[in-house]
Amino acid sequence: MRFDIITIFPDIFDSYLSESLFKRARTNKIIDVHVHNLRDYSPDKKHHKVDDRPFGGGPGMVLQIEPIYEAVSQITRHVSRNKKTRVILFSTRGKKLDAKVARRLSKYDRLILICGRYEGVDERVARFVADEELSIGDYVLSGGELPALVLMEAVSRYKPGFLGKFASLEDERGSFPAYTRPPVFSPKRGVKWTVPKVLQSGNHAKIATWRQRK
Ligand code: SAH
Repeated sequence: MRFDIITIFPDIFDSYLSESLFKRARTNKIIDVHVHNLRDYSPDKKHHKVDDRPFGGGPGMVLQIEPIYEAVSQITRHVSRNKKTRVILFSTRGKKLDAKVARRLSKYDRLILICGRYEGVDERVARFVADEELSIGDYVLSGGELPALVLMEAVSRYKPGFLGKFASLEDERGSFPAYTRPPVFSPKRGVKWTVPKVLQSGNHAKIATWRQRK
């Protein structure tokens, strides 16, 4: 699966995508990530301007449609027709990203992720360029870069091989409380924080019931 990210801060992605599961998934060619600097697609070849003031007034700047349209066009130019591609714009007004959305998106061959900044993105991008708008939650971030990382990670989990041998553990984690050694932790004298006895019982049926209950 290929991800193309359109952003004015391409460096943000380097460290996160070079560690742990992403590192391995990229090495093993399970996912392929291309980060594009929006400024490279600006019609303004001198100052690489990509934003302007909002029509109707108000504070802040708005990302313009031209460089975004140009970036998406160039990125999709050489894609063969049978590759399933989806263009996503991050927006506070978008549909909420959840596991169901992530699973649906994992069926595409290619996702193009447009990261907004400043006061947002010219609405024509949402209307004419993007296939859908997504929000990662009801709060306002300063850009679409963290949402892009969140989406890529949530989607990649559904690609066979991304989780590797951690798959079963990862799938279950979060659905019930987990404990590990030591069985008793004593932060200070007279205080004992213990692991539930049942988890150390070796009785797998009982453990399963306990986890179910939690
Ligand atoms: N003025 C806008 C906020 C713009 S924030 C508003 O009130 O809606 C700048 C950019 O960050 C947005 O265009 C979007 O791409 C991204 N962004 C901010 N919060 C986000 C969220 N919760 N989910 C997805 N994208 C978000």
